Amino acid sequence: MDSEAVAAATTLNSLAETYVHLVLGVGEHDPDFVDAYIGPAEWRQSAQGQSATLAELGRDAAQSTARLEGLAATDRDDLEELRYLHLLKSYRSLSSRIGMLEGERLTFDQESEALYDAIAPTRDAEFYQGVLDRLAERLPGDGPLIDRYDAYRSAFIIAPARVDAVLSAAIDACRERTRGYIQLPETESFRVEYVTDKSWSGYNWYQGDFQSLIQINTDLPIYVDRMLDLACHEGYPGHHVYNLLIERDLVTARGWIEFAVYPLFSPRSLIAEGSANYGIEVAFPKDERVAFERSVLFPLAGLDPERTADYYAIQELVAELSFAGNEAARRYLDGQIDAEAAADWLESYSLMSRPRAEQRVRFIDQYRSYVINYNLGQELVREFIESRGGTAEAPGRRWQEFSELLSSPRLPSQLGPVPGAE
Ligand SMILES: [Zn+2]
Repeated sequence: MDSEAVAAATTLNSLAETYVHLVLGVGEHDPDFVDAYIGPAEWRQSAQGQSATLAELGRDAAQSTARLEGLAATDRDDLEELRYLHLLKSYRSLSSRIGMLEGERLTFDQESEALYDAIAPTRDAEFYQGVLDRLAERLPGDGPLIDRYDAYRSAFIIAPARVDAVLSAAIDACRERTRGYIQLPETESFRVEYVTDKSWSGYNWYQGDFQSLIQINTDLPIYVDRMLDLACHEGYPGHHVYNLLIERDLVTARGWIEFAVYPLFSPRSLIAEGSANYGIEVAFPKDERVAFERSVLFPLAGLDPERTADYYAIQELVAELSFAGNEAARRYLDGQIDAEAAADWLESYSLMSRPRAEQRVRFIDQYRSYVINYNLGQELVREFIESRGGTAEAPGRRWQEFSELLSSPRLPSQLGPVPGAE
């Protein structure tokens, strides 16, 4: 490297460090903001001690963004270029979040683009009605569809005393499959805790040193399909693996310190949630999943294994309703409907039971446009990996592309066109 390149690299590293300090500073104003922090403990203490105002943090973020924009593009390889663009977008996302905390109002789409670098496509009620009509043909009974679905699904609730055994078996299987394709550190592990009174159903709190704390919310009945979903999504190859690969490959191996902090309201969340959701089918392609559920999880859960295939056929249809949740959030946050109507919409078009719909509205209140990260993220990640040859027919390639995505600083807008957009 020539001296200009050395100077540019030094400036980039210093702006990366400033970013960590600013995120920690914003975390002092927004308790949901810092999802994980694995950097020096003194930095966090210093953020707590400094108590910088939002205006100060916003000004510092704007200054750093300007310096980053002016940085000469010297000698960066592909991955370093991704890093640069990721840091730039992360700074802009941070400034938007600071603006929101200061009272600035954005529309749902403006917010998701500013924070997560993506906009969810709009689908009208007609699209969802088509899926609901197909479900109506399959679900027994008559009366409102939501009641028929609730009644059908009630046969697949796991008794609370059995949940831990089923989840443990699901986690073991996810870990084993993931280890078959991704080299994980020997010391990695996590513990599971059961909690109540949360707006989410599961949460991974990454602790650093390849350890996670996974919390499972037991407020509502737990259906059997949630077990493998949670084990993959929160654990392997989802959040736990994503966070530890970032720690190992980006923070430790490359010294890219900006990845030592994970701001929840940032573009990383679309990659995190999208890959965690897509990781379920990477670890357990449809037929393998049904076979595993039938032979292992259904018996452990005390459920009738003969009903496995039918249950998952129904679940597959219900999954097509996932974008309806974004629609409820968009209308609600844009002020077109109130909380009651948002819950009604989730009941009608997402087939959520009333308590689950109300829990989801609390989630939307707390996390806002974050909701797009799950389903849009899943589609974007799938499209990206499949476009690179990582299809269901090429599982080895799919795992390889998946793990490379997890340990690279790729932005949502670099994943490809938005599915379903014009
Ligand atoms: Zn998640």
